[in-house]
Amino acid sequence: MARRRLIYEGKAKILYEGPEPDTLIQYFKDDATAFDAQKKAVIEGKGVLNNRLSEHFMTGLNNIGVPTHFIRRINMREQLIRMVEMIPLEVVVRNYAAGSLCKRLGLTEGQQLPRPIIEFYYKDDALHDPMVAEEHIIAFNWASQQDIDDMIALALRVNDFLSGMFLGVGIRLVDFKIEIGRIFEGDFQRLVVADEISPDSCRLWDVETNRKLDKDVFRHDLGSLSEAYTEVAVRLGVMPRNNGKAATGPKLVN
Ligand code: UDP
Repeated sequence: MARRRLIYEGKAKILYEGPEPDTLIQYFKDDATAFDAQKKAVIEGKGVLNNRLSEHFMTGLNNIGVPTHFIRRINMREQLIRMVEMIPLEVVVRNYAAGSLCKRLGLTEGQQLPRPIIEFYYKDDALHDPMVAEEHIIAFNWASQQDIDDMIALALRVNDFLSGMFLGVGIRLVDFKIEIGRIFEGDFQRLVVADEISPDSCRLWDVETNRKLDKDVFRHDLGSLSEAYTEVAVRLGVMPRNNGKAATGPKLVN
């Protein structure tokens, strides 16, 4: 069988050439990294869970008219996506204070914010993804003012959709990161949600207990990451609950 062409390999995913023009195959690895990739591990099954969860969120977004790069899942670890031109920014939306926001502004972790706050970070590993202002984005031509307005509108729609979906299963969406790409259709360009949406890029806390169900479990050694992600998948109905028991055969009835 012909070897397929590798387009890009990142920390958690690999992109291969797709079967049709303007498509790619996105492969989810089991690798987990944190703190600028200083902490690394292989978490068995993480790629399978993130593939399924990202499919679930992206499909829901497509269904409510928020465009994404997702076309369809191909198998346990791969999905077919549209090729997009990535905007070199991470768009973070925050509903509650956590992580770097607490460090920067001295807020109490878990404090509800008066309104969703959107921040932009410039994607550059060597610079450790610095936070940037709209001024920098426009001056350095990473995106136009119109793109910024569209990215904010997209991010807020994603936030409302995901917040509601998670709240329905007893999970608080504290914050999350998305990445956005451009698709060209004739003379027009459209911005679409790209990359992935998974517990790797969200903070998810149980509403009752505040138990963390996201990558902070790995970052701060709070237990089993695959158990946390499985809990999210089970609550969302993406995976059946198996209670850790081995499958049993049918019971005899008299
Ligand atoms: N995030 C991400 N990738 C990054 C940086 C942040 O997915 O490279 C997510 C992170 O998981 C959290 C949100 O963006 O859900 C806000 O992260 P924060 O700025 O608080 O940074 P952190 O404390 O995670 O370093």
